[in-house]
Amino acid sequence: MNHITLAPVQPDQPTHLMATYGRQAISFVRGRGSYLYTEDGTEYLDALTGIAVCGLGHAHPVIAEAIAEQAATLVHTSNIFEIPWQTAAAQKLAEVSGMHEIFFSNSGAESNEGAIKIARKFGAQQGIRQPKIIVAEKSFHGRTLATLSATGNSKVQEGFYPLVEGFIRVPFGDVEAIQEAALHHPDIVAILIEPIQGEGGINTAPQGFSYLEEVRALCNQHNWLMMLDEIQTGNGRTGKYFAYQHTNIVPDVLTTAKGLGNGFPVGAVMTQGKAVGLLGPGSHGSTYGGTVLGSRVVYTVIDTIQKENVIENAKKVGSYIVEQLRERLGEFSVQVRGFGMMIGIELPMPCADIVHSARDNYKLIVNVTAGNVVRLLPPLNMTFEQADDLLARLVPAITDFIKA
Ligand SMILES: *Cc1c(COP(=O)(O)O)cnc(C)c1O
Repeated sequence: MNHITLAPVQPDQPTHLMATYGRQAISFVRGRGSYLYTEDGTEYLDALTGIAVCGLGHAHPVIAEAIAEQAATLVHTSNIFEIPWQTAAAQKLAEVSGMHEIFFSNSGAESNEGAIKIARKFGAQQGIRQPKIIVAEKSFHGRTLATLSATGNSKVQEGFYPLVEGFIRVPFGDVEAIQEAALHHPDIVAILIEPIQGEGGINTAPQGFSYLEEVRALCNQHNWLMMLDEIQTGNGRTGKYFAYQHTNIVPDVLTTAKGLGNGFPVGAVMTQGKAVGLLGPGSHGSTYGGTVLGSRVVYTVIDTIQKENVIENAKKVGSYIVEQLRERLGEFSVQVRGFGMMIGIELPMPCADIVHSARDNYKLIVNVTAGNVVRLLPPLNMTFEQADDLLARLVPAITDFIKA
């Protein structure tokens, strides 16, 4: 084997990387399950999993073996050929989602681009020349031009005007605002929302998941496509394979990515019902979408989630973590919100620095979103013992911060 050893990067060393990320001065060289390791062997508990990506934990042996074996056999041919692993992955994804057609992409944003194109095509077929898509405040849909235009966060849009047209914004959870929009815009074709807003602060609608049912009813009434962005909430994260499965509805268009590849870059846009067949030959494509290797990873990730009862575990261990946090942080005015392994702890003050103090003082990896929400996205297969380890690090990290 051809081993190349890299010299460690010093914190202030200039690099050729575009400075699009504020990076923490730490790097991990190895991972195993719920833990990450630095070069000197220091162990960190990873309650972030690459931002809801490695749901099966780091270096899962079944996924590692599938990648290694397929990489040594055949990585890529082209979508101009039949790809049996892609067909098999689509079959699996259709089973767990209840969707009918699947297009594989390489990221979340690319999946949402597909959804936006489907909505526009749906409009075009009805002769609607200026189709509009309803989107929510505080949403996050990605960093490409169309998806940052759909995103409800002005910081993501700043400097990139003119935005892509055709989005109407409403407050998340506000059904009357949607009805109001319908009165003023006869050219609405779809609504695109996250079942739980991830980047926005782990927000559910005030009425909970019944918001999704209300949106479904409005979409039926007005002949709009109901499009759900489950890039973060999908693949078992909230205690169901997809978060909408907490309800009885099915969307017309569904996007996912993150946990779908456990770290391998893949995404998908899926359709059922009246959204089926809108993208036909020549209307969409992606060179890398659904490669032999990527498809085998998707197949293996879903198969492993099923065989190892990962979602049931996420539900049980996730509720335990939420319960314990509510109890142990009860004396402070914090609000704990959780669905499976998607957990937010809202503090009464900005708390971005917890990321650093938790890491340095408690060897715990978390992140902070929306300025004051500590976000936990632990591996879905975390054990109760590891959850206790997480609590033993997180509770003092938060307590220190609030008392300081
Ligand atoms: C992460 C995320 C995206 C963007 O996915 P990328 O793979 O970074 O393009 C879109 N929507 C939601 C809800 C996300 O959490």
